[in-house]
Amino acid sequence: MIITLKKDIDGQQKQRLMQKIASCGLKAESSVTNGKVVLSLSGNTYAVDTEILRAFSIVESVKRIEDPFKLASKSFNPCGTEVSVNDVKIGKGNFCLIAGPCAIESERQIVDIAEKIKDAGANLLRGGAFKPRTSPYSFQGLGKEGIRLLLKAKAETGMPVVSEITCASQEDLFYDIDVVQIGARNMQNYELIKKVGQMKKPVLLKRGISATVEEWLLSAEYLLTEGATDVILCERGIRTFEPTSRYTLDLSSVPVLKERTHLPVIADPSHASGNARFIEPLSLAAAAVGADGLMIEVHSQPEEALSDGAQAITPEALKLLCQKVKYILDANKKF
Ligand code: PEP
Ligand code: MN
Repeated sequence: MIITLKKDIDGQQKQRLMQKIASCGLKAESSVTNGKVVLSLSGNTYAVDTEILRAFSIVESVKRIEDPFKLASKSFNPCGTEVSVNDVKIGKGNFCLIAGPCAIESERQIVDIAEKIKDAGANLLRGGAFKPRTSPYSFQGLGKEGIRLLLKAKAETGMPVVSEITCASQEDLFYDIDVVQIGARNMQNYELIKKVGQMKKPVLLKRGISATVEEWLLSAEYLLTEGATDVILCERGIRTFEPTSRYTLDLSSVPVLKERTHLPVIADPSHASGNARFIEPLSLAAAAVGADGLMIEVHSQPEEALSDGAQAITPEALKLLCQKVKYILDANKKF
């Protein structure tokens, strides 16, 4: 961290600042550039709130040159993290396909989709029981009953399951759910995130619709500091000025994350585009930029879906997509 002080500063004020720096457990090396004192700080700088240092009137600027997160940073585990969900591995060269309906609607619906996506090549089954809908009039999910039906589909197919938690009081219901999803709307719900971290289960952390990569990684840091070890990041699109798709899938976040964190990152083209026609091209692009997997909404009858039908692809389309993705993954491995 670099602190530049204003010109012609008062010695007493500088002493107060140096005391503050020392009380934060940091060391400061002082030098002079263009007549200004520049302090170069070392130590546990990610634990220091830069605003506290900016509050000193003699401080001109404070610049972080290191990440504000520690456990999520690439330097903490330069080889990368491989998340294990039962027999499924995610990250470090293991590509995973998570598929299933937006919402669990009935036993027949979820078991039927589960069997078909397994046949298409999916590794994990997704399905929402608690649906955070924009409108209170939209289908809100089957709640506890939905979790029961998802576990039934897990028992019938042997596929691990992913479902979204929306409130810490749902914790007990998620006991047999293999991956706990934190949705885009809750990426900055820190009390929920802390509780989910304490569950010590694999977590799928979606990117908030207006969250920067750094804010997203700080949310992951909350999970890791609370004890979660298996955290998967999921790029699901951000809100931009562009109205031709539901959100804008920020695929540049994938190579950026590969540089800054050891956590696996997957892409969700379904919520990003909101349009079934765009799922295949965006999935191929995500595989090409190095994503560790995909999360795709699938429905046997998209036109009958109780939520997000316009972005759901059929199990047949998923099978074809899977075959095409394999070509991209093989091409990536060749070089
Ligand atoms: C979902 O995956 O069903 C969902 C609601 O996604 P997001 O949180 O990305 O909107
Ligand atoms: Mn959905």
